[in-house]
Amino acid sequence: MKKTALVCGAGGFIGNHLVTRLVHEGFDVTGVDLVYPEYNKTDAHTFCIGDLRSQAACDALFINKHYDEVYQLAADMGGAGYIFTGVHDADIIHNSALINLNIIERCVQTGVGKVFFSSSACVYNLNNQLEPDNPRCDEASAIPAYPDSDYGWEKLFSERLYLAYNRNYDIPIAIARFHNIFGPRGAWNNGKEKAPAAICRKIAEPTDHIEIWGDGKQTRSFLYIDECLDGVRKLMDSDFMEPVNIGSDEMISIDDLAKMVMNIAGIEKEIKHIDGPLGVRGRSSDNELIYKKLGWKPALKLYDGMVILYKWVEQEIK
Ligand code: NAD
Repeated sequence: MKKTALVCGAGGFIGNHLVTRLVHEGFDVTGVDLVYPEYNKTDAHTFCIGDLRSQAACDALFINKHYDEVYQLAADMGGAGYIFTGVHDADIIHNSALINLNIIERCVQTGVGKVFFSSSACVYNLNNQLEPDNPRCDEASAIPAYPDSDYGWEKLFSERLYLAYNRNYDIPIAIARFHNIFGPRGAWNNGKEKAPAAICRKIAEPTDHIEIWGDGKQTRSFLYIDECLDGVRKLMDSDFMEPVNIGSDEMISIDDLAKMVMNIAGIEKEIKHIDGPLGVRGRSSDNELIYKKLGWKPALKLYDGMVILYKWVEQEIK
């Protein structure tokens, strides 16, 4: 018999790719989201349009169903322009917390085999990420907590929710803290795009300069989508149940990322620095724990992933 999986957030960037991966691996996949994927037809065997904040919608998904694996990726989220301005904070906390409360409860009620929760690098303590060159993002450093956004606080709350359900109701869980996942078929021009896609768009568009928020010296690391899914699947197949980073440790400044994309595109543009929502000064994935527990580390260089993304964004613009 085929293993069954439910992917919550299957219309979104990572969920859509995850559906494809699970189908290729032989799972019978049900996807759910408020929307269908924007850039391709879903590969899910069944795709339900549903609002996971609604208890009735969640009941309908779980009733008379057995899922071996549930992947909970649905969240109210976006790039810096969405989560660091402060104007969406109440919605972000309310919407994502409701989704997680509803899903974990139904997973327990119906005896799901295992549930995956997508947390974020945004849980890490702001005070450990004040300089571009030496951020501290090992898993233990999330406590004492001081995330830089309410998006991060909700993720931390929900991590504790899944951990508590695991402790009190014995449901197997996996929690990954994603660090800036990028690749084709993700937001690139709707206000929810992240730095890699936004920079590709700005360079591919016919302008003589590009705008970068802040001084461009802020650092991040970026993980290509296929690598992220390798990590997720390895984590789900393991018995490790503590929160763990899934990210790249190839740290780069945003200005250098822009220069990398210019090099890929064969286009030179002036970089203008403007005010904008920024997030922490420096951040990179600490991969020691996941390597120790799962033997996993990313293999693809940032440059090679950005080549794929740039070609895709260029095509979308056309
Ligand atoms: P995304 O925004 O593309 O996908 C999230 C999906 O959730 C969207 O399709 C959205 O419609 C859906 N959704 C939101 N509210 C819903 C609701 N009430 N009912 C049903 N569906 C709902 O985001 P993504 O980049 O694919 O991220 C997936 C998960 O990974 C999210 O939980 C996100 O917080 C986490 N994450 C992503 C990154 C990243 O770099 N992409 C980094 C850290 C954490």
